[in-house]
Amino acid sequence: MVLEKEKFGGQITITSDIVNYPGVLEDSGEGLTQKMRQQAERFGATFQKAEVKKLKLDQPIKKIETSQGTLESIGLVLATGAHPRKLGFPGEKEYQGRGIAYCATCDGEFLKVVNCL
Ligand SMILES: Cc1cc2nc3c(=O)[nH]c(=O)nc-3n(C[C@H](O)[C@H](O)[C@H](O)COP(=O)(O)OP(=O)(O)OC[C@H]3O[C@@H](n4cnc5c(N)ncnc54)[C@H](O)[C@@H]3O)c2cc1C
Repeated sequence: MVLEKEKFGGQITITSDIVNYPGVLEDSGEGLTQKMRQQAERFGATFQKAEVKKLKLDQPIKKIETSQGTLESIGLVLATGAHPRKLGFPGEKEYQGRGIAYCATCDGEFLKVVNCL
């Protein structure tokens, strides 16, 4: 089961062009994560919108307290990712992933100066 509090797919869903992911020539963040989800679902994964509020990990059966109730599991993977700090200038939200970038190694290629001399 994949628990997500905001948007399934995470940060990559806000970018329109992915050209550097292994095995993918070109895709959008939405497109790539949709395919990842479909692949996971084919192997039996389920997806639930819920925020994880508290973990109790000291027993063999772990307790996961979420905004939608408490779950139990013998194991879990924490993949809470990151949230870039926003500056709040005009157009920041509108152009997010289409010029406004928060990851130099991801989007640097789109912004490189080809020949400045
Ligand atoms: C604009 C942009 C362009 C990018 N371009 C590329 C690219 O071209 N190629 C590339 O390889 N990478 C790119 N990246 C980087 C890529 O998005 C990240 O490396 C990747 O998303 C990290 O995945 P993650 O699952 O570790 O974390 P995240 O994507 O941050 O996902 C973590 C998820 O956990 C959820 N979460 C956190 N806490 C809780 C909680 N308590 N309960 C429930 N859910 C919770 C969050 O809501 C989030 O959706 C880009 C990033 C950005 C922002």
